[in-house]
Amino acid sequence: MQDCIFCQIVQGRIPADLVYEDESILAFKDIRPVAPVHILLITKKHIPSLSDVDNDEDARLIGKLHRAAVSAAGRAGVLGSGFRLVANCGKDAGQLVDHLHYHLLAGRSLQWPPG
Ligand code: AMP
Ligand code: ZN
Repeated sequence: MQDCIFCQIVQGRIPADLVYEDESILAFKDIRPVAPVHILLITKKHIPSLSDVDNDEDARLIGKLHRAAVSAAGRAGVLGSGFRLVANCGKDAGQLVDHLHYHLLAGRSLQWPPG
């Protein structure tokens, strides 16, 4: 296990407002929400970023994250109004936490393109 902040959440060493958990993934509310619905979805396994997904097991985890995101959107009541799923990868994308995660954003009209 790595000592990164999301690994610490996985280990229960840092509290988080969990909305979903199973054996391989975790979803919790972003501590600094930028939309009425702002949920982070992570793999329990420490994968630094999308660019490190290079095997079938990790690809399967990505699929699980997508399905969990749609489920979370349903529970949040935004399937009808819409949602955005974002993975920042690397410096130019503004990735701050080097543990693969998706942002589920919803609950307001989101601008495109992002800044
Ligand atoms: P990114 O820029 O894609 O790496 O986004 C990292 C996200 O993690 C930011 O939206 C932060 O607000 C969020 N974040 C950082 N620490 C925590 C934490 N302890 N609990 C919940 N969200 C966090
Ligand atoms: Zn980690």
